[in-house]
Amino acid sequence: MPGSLEGRRAIVTGASSGIGEATVEALAREGAQVAAGARRRDRLEDLAGRVEGEGGTVHAREVDVSDEAAARAFVEESAAAMGGLDVLVNNAGVMLLGPVAGAETEHWRRMIDVNLLGLLYCTHAALPVMAEGGGGHIVNVSSVAGRRAEMGAAVYNMTKFGVVAFSEALRQEALHANVRVTCVEPGFVDTELQGHNEHPMVVEGVRKMREQIGEVLEAEDIAPTRSSTRCRSRRGWRSTSCSSGRPSSGASASHRIDGVRAPMGFLTPPMRAV
Ligand code: NDP
Repeated sequence: MPGSLEGRRAIVTGASSGIGEATVEALAREGAQVAAGARRRDRLEDLAGRVEGEGGTVHAREVDVSDEAAARAFVEESAAAMGGLDVLVNNAGVMLLGPVAGAETEHWRRMIDVNLLGLLYCTHAALPVMAEGGGGHIVNVSSVAGRRAEMGAAVYNMTKFGVVAFSEALRQEALHANVRVTCVEPGFVDTELQGHNEHPMVVEGVRKMREQIGEVLEAEDIAPTRSSTRCRSRRGWRSTSCSSGRPSSGASASHRIDGVRAPMGFLTPPMRAV
């Protein structure tokens, strides 16, 4: 499967559905070897089988990224199996919305454990591996919810604002190790994410938002595309934010990357911090 990422080794968390699954497919299509992690092994194995049927290579691995030891083992063992690590896509996430008053505090813990700590654990494990290999690219999936807070989303907002802030600070630190950091901030994407909410007010709110937006994004819109992997931005993508174009609705079918309408994909070889 020849492509612009031939010879690259990538890890994607939250790869069993939605954006993560589409990202694995897109990376593999471009020739990268990919380690795909999530908790649902059956979904990962289906994905690996599909990609391998098209000539790609996917290592499916069950992992709960909120478990520090498991996250570390996933990153280190996947990198060892692939002979190194060029790209880490921290995509795993949960969104359990609702008012703060009366919330299930277990929902808060899940969001913080997965969206923040899971991302930190994987990043912490990946940095030395990338440094040893001469550099790499860390892609963190935040959200428009990481720039704009709304009632009913307070804790999800907190996690995604955290991902934005962490990405910016890490970008400055990691430059020295030749590790590029990208933060992706999609709007409303049609995935399983919203479906985990049971609070009637949230279910109704999501339904209305979707109706207002009309044409929402598909997971494939967020994954790296052939054109974006070939694109060489003059500005280097070193802290690229890919945001929805319609902040008023919180989601949109259009994207901007460094202010330019372009495909949403986020990887540009060579992965060199500039
Ligand atoms: P999905 O629910 O389809 O995907 C979430 C993925 O995260 C699944 O593969 C799930 O796999 C995985 N995951 C959840 N918990 C864990 C865990 N503890 N350990 C490992 N993997 C876990 O939603 P999306 O594809 O939409 O979400 C992907 C990312 O995009 C998230 O970070 C989300 O916040 C972000 N995002 C989504 C938007 C949207 O509108 N959909 C908008 C903006 C950002 P499993 O259950 O098998 O573990």
